[in-house]
Amino acid sequence: MKTNYIFVTGGVVSSLGKGIAAASLAAILEARCLNVTIIKLDPYINVDPGTISPIQHGEVFVTEDGAETDLDLGHYERFIRTKMSHRNNFTTGSIYYDVLHKERRGDYLGATIQVIPHITNAIKKRIIEGGEGHDIVLVEIGGTVGDIESLPFLEAIRQMAVEVGRTHTLYMHLTLVPYIDAAGELKTKPTQHSVKELLSIGIQPDVLICRSYRTVPSNERAKIALFCNVLENAVISLKDVDSIYKIPALLQSQDLDDYICERFNLTCPEADLSEWEQVIYQQANPVGEVTIGIVGKYIELPDAYKSVMEALKHAGLKNSITVNINLINAQHVETSSLDILKDLDAILIPGGFGYRGVEGKIITAQYARENNIPYLGICLGMQIAIIEFARNVADMPEANSTEFISYCKYPVVALINELCTTNGNVKLLSKTRNLGGTMRLGSQPCKLTYGSLARKIYGHDLIMERHRHRYEVNNIFLPQLEEAGLRVSGLSSDNKLVEIIEYPDHPWFVASQFHPEFTSTPRDGHPLFTGFIKAAMEYQKTRKK
Ligand code: GLN
Repeated sequence: MKTNYIFVTGGVVSSLGKGIAAASLAAILEARCLNVTIIKLDPYINVDPGTISPIQHGEVFVTEDGAETDLDLGHYERFIRTKMSHRNNFTTGSIYYDVLHKERRGDYLGATIQVIPHITNAIKKRIIEGGEGHDIVLVEIGGTVGDIESLPFLEAIRQMAVEVGRTHTLYMHLTLVPYIDAAGELKTKPTQHSVKELLSIGIQPDVLICRSYRTVPSNERAKIALFCNVLENAVISLKDVDSIYKIPALLQSQDLDDYICERFNLTCPEADLSEWEQVIYQQANPVGEVTIGIVGKYIELPDAYKSVMEALKHAGLKNSITVNINLINAQHVETSSLDILKDLDAILIPGGFGYRGVEGKIITAQYARENNIPYLGICLGMQIAIIEFARNVADMPEANSTEFISYCKYPVVALINELCTTNGNVKLLSKTRNLGGTMRLGSQPCKLTYGSLARKIYGHDLIMERHRHRYEVNNIFLPQLEEAGLRVSGLSSDNKLVEIIEYPDHPWFVASQFHPEFTSTPRDGHPLFTGFIKAAMEYQKTRKK
């Protein structure tokens, strides 16, 4: 089948939820047995978001093949089963990077390099490569129509209709339909202006998704259709809902998928959304609730912990309970009383970089260990647990990570090459791509220890999980840590790197070097998170007694 393209743009304001809308539509199309993928185009100059602060840009999502991508790719994988890769996200910076590299090599044979055609051609090439082999590819353009920086992307998608044919391209535009309290009315004018802006670039939208606080009634949709030159049944109302997982059903109830299949002339079965109905049912019928504390340092922007927070909610669905999340500033733990941890049913320390807040996290891990509170450590959260255990249990005072202190007597967490110099036999596992040199990225196998809690939770001996870190547990100190009661519950396939640990003397204390949150989905959950929430429920019972 020839690939069909759905280009998703946004207007009026940012944060309309283009990513969620695109992913939700993709979920319906997947439920119609179509082979779907999604690409995100980001208009900024960074080559990838890997170097942008999580406080500015939210979480960096890591794909199976080790690409550091926009957090929207996390939504895509939570809504559809197609796995994302480095082909599914690219930035203006990466396009320029490639074009300039070719220019330096002399590939353009003396031509003057220009935005049109060189940059736009490079964009089109990436879109086509990313969509190869799929029936439908949704292409989300970051930013808002009218932004100077997204113009080359919009020009490229305009040209694509000419090149692949209008029958294989569809433009879907998200706009805001605000409700003005004083007038008691929904206002369609911003939508009209936004479409006018899009038309000035040469793009006539086929579908309008009207984001609004309440349902946009049919008379208003008819008005929008008339003024914006869009069929009335292609003006879709997308009101605010309490769960993003309700959006596929909301779009399908307005027959958006039928409209698209007819447009592309596709014959496929009706969408079976029963799995999504199950998700919504579980969400609406909880039998209890737990409160989980995430102790981190990027709490000003909760998007910094997007996948972790979603994975906790998925685990709530699997256990039929509501998960309340308390974001706690690790620096507050350093300075205030531990009372802020006292009403939690479980504690999670997520990934992070740099020293700020680390001592607060160490205090938190100690509190969880000593008080039998379920603890899940992720990446930095595992390194923190190791440091805490070394200092307070394994008789290694001042133990630390070389990320935070360049010299210490007990560098229980250190860089791979530092490990090499100390025991001489640990090698960097992932050398294949130039990704900043020292970061270990992407999906890697982990062998779970027979008899461990981790092995029981996963139900398998061999698992695949995604990584994003530079530092590792320093094997030199392992015998001392194990002697003191720490159990290594999983190792890398070459047995050289500690991937997951636990404390057999504690009801539920598990910490992993990898990031399980990246593979949790609402439909399937993730065993580690499901086990964690179950442990939180158990702990709540004992606490209440
Ligand atoms: N800063 C730590 C490292 O680089 C942990 C990274 C993370 O939590 N993703 O190893």
